[in-house]
Amino acid sequence: MDKQYTTDAINIKSYPLNDFDNILLMYSKSAGLIKCIAKGAKKPKSKLGARAQVLFANKLMLNKGKTFDKITQAQGLNTFSKLREDFDKLSYGLYCADFISIFCADTEEEAEIIYDIFYKTLENIANSKDKKEILLQTLKFQLHILEELGWGIDFRTCSCCGAEIEEYSYFSNEEKGNFCTCCAKSNIKVQKIPKKLIEFLSTLKEVAMDEKTQYDELADLNTVNICFQFIKKYSEKISGRVQKFSDFNLIAS
Ligand SMILES: [Zn+2]
Repeated sequence: MDKQYTTDAINIKSYPLNDFDNILLMYSKSAGLIKCIAKGAKKPKSKLGARAQVLFANKLMLNKGKTFDKITQAQGLNTFSKLREDFDKLSYGLYCADFISIFCADTEEEAEIIYDIFYKTLENIANSKDKKEILLQTLKFQLHILEELGWGIDFRTCSCCGAEIEEYSYFSNEEKGNFCTCCAKSNIKVQKIPKKLIEFLSTLKEVAMDEKTQYDELADLNTVNICFQFIKKYSEKISGRVQKFSDFNLIAS
């Protein structure tokens, strides 16, 4: 017997199943990452087809299946239309979706929080006024998701001796932690991070998704990009695979 359930969900990826139907990978508020069949989504006049686009949020009714759940009803919640009008906004929105698909399998317990971070990020990116703000929102997204999954970095404290970081932190991707000047000495593969960036990253990690910080205006594109690249590398180290994405070295640092 099929079991019916309802949930809000954001489409992450869409694959063709046959001539008429698509398979959708979605992040749902009640069950985390789910794979569904969108029956008839490829037919020209399908209502479901319009709602099955990547990065659309819908309220869904589904029948639970063995491998795939089946969508029986879909009601649009947000198409994030401003995100689709700008190449950078769309690219970074898709980057976030990719990040979710890599990191957020088996996150049923944290699903509601992760869904809200994802949803608010898409909204924030859609409303961003320039590239810096888009990058800042994507950086904030990564920091919040990593924190939620237990991969958060305590930038202010040495992972080895627990001392407070003073002028510089020395970050190691291998050890997945940051070190004070003393503890970093024996480790050659470290990245030196000035206190200013530590404060910036810590603040972004700690504020709510819709809260502004002093850095929204203060930080320049270069600073935000350095931090973004840094967290991206750290994430890749954790996930054990490189996120396939094209344009992230565009900005010279
Ligand atoms: Zn130390």
